[in-house]
This record gives sequence, C-alpha cells and structure tokens, in this order.
Amino acid sequence: MRLLLIGPPGGGKGTQAKYLIDHFDIPQISTGDMLRANIQNSTDLGGNAQKFMNSGQLVPDSIILDMMKERLTDQDCDNGFVLDGFPRTIPQAEGLDYLLKSMKEQLDHVIVMDVPDNLIITRLSNRRSCKECGQVYNLIFEPPAIAGKCNNCGEDLFLRPDDNPAIIQQRLTVYHQQTKPVIKYYSDQGLTDVIDSKGTIDEIRSNILLNITS
Ligand SMILES: [Zn+2]
Repeated sequence: MRLLLIGPPGGGKGTQAKYLIDHFDIPQISTGDMLRANIQNSTDLGGNAQKFMNSGQLVPDSIILDMMKERLTDQDCDNGFVLDGFPRTIPQAEGLDYLLKSMKEQLDHVIVMDVPDNLIITRLSNRRSCKECGQVYNLIFEPPAIAGKCNNCGEDLFLRPDDNPAIIQQRLTVYHQQTKPVIKYYSDQGLTDVIDSKGTIDEIRSNILLNITS
C-alpha cells in the first residue's frame, strides 16, 4: 500500500500515520528523517544537502527526490510506504510521479484528513503544559485534578506560545495555502480520499481503513 497522508498541524496526523504503519507493515517516510540519515551516514547526497543547509538555503527538490529514490528501494518498502510532509508543491508531486513511474510504481491513495480549523484551535488552545516536568494536559479532554496545577509535581501549568489561537490560525492558513494545489493535483488523478476527521481517533482510523481498502 503506497500512501500519502495529508493533514493539518494539530489534526492527529501523526497518530493515524502510526496506525497505518502497523496495519500495513510499512515504513513512514519523511524528508526530515531521510536528510538526517544521509547526513549522518555521510552519503554524497547528504553532503550536497548539507552545503545548501549551511548557506541557509532550502535543499533542492532534485536532491530530496534522489534520496527518496534510494529510500524507496530499501527492503522495508516492499509492502509500500506512508509519505508524510512530501510532496508539498506541484513540482515535487510531479517529480514524485516521475520517480515512481521509473520504478514501475504509483501511489495507491492520497488520504486527506479533513478537520475544521476551529476544532483544531479549540483543541490546541486548551492545552496546558507543566513548566517543571513538561506533562501536557487538555482543559477539555484531560484536565488536571487541581485547576492550573500539575498532577505530577504540583507546579503551575502554562499555555505554550505555539498553542496561542492566533499562531495556530496562522499555521493553518499556511497549511491550506500550501496543500490546496497539491490536493487538487491528486484529486484530478482520482487518488484522493477525503476523510472526515472530526471524530475520535478510533473513528478516524476506521474511516481511513474503510476508504482505502474498499
Ligand atoms: Zn509537572
């Protein structure tokens, strides 16, 4: 099963990716992991990428695609893979199509997790973290026993700057701008499954499985 998973930040994509990996016995492939592995193993591609990173530039798509080409031939990709965070642009999507075609493969499904912005904002802006031990709470779903205090160590809880509603909305706006053309690119190919992702983790999980295995 060759999957691409698209979903908003804070929308539970990581959790669903984990299920898919276990369910289909396939690896999750992210550009960050590939870059780190190539740099750590001092490959030629890693060295090239490092040059761009050192000068504060983005690593060119061609290098990422070359890394992906190698990664996809690894044995753990025999059953397929879950792509996460790539492609983000049309040129990257076209490059990926070209690459997969050269390997006589293609994506089976592009899973688009549909979560209303206001739901994500409500969830994230109700998160509170302990400044002492880092324990994370949610005022709606997992409130602390004593308001404003950590269950573990009794320290004060605080709202991380990243979880501020205005910042979350900004990230979601960027997400929609970036993914819209990519989603259209794949829906034109009839590959997208838009999954209603408002429910519980288990409901979303069954929705995804139902859509991609039927
Ligand atoms: Zn604590």
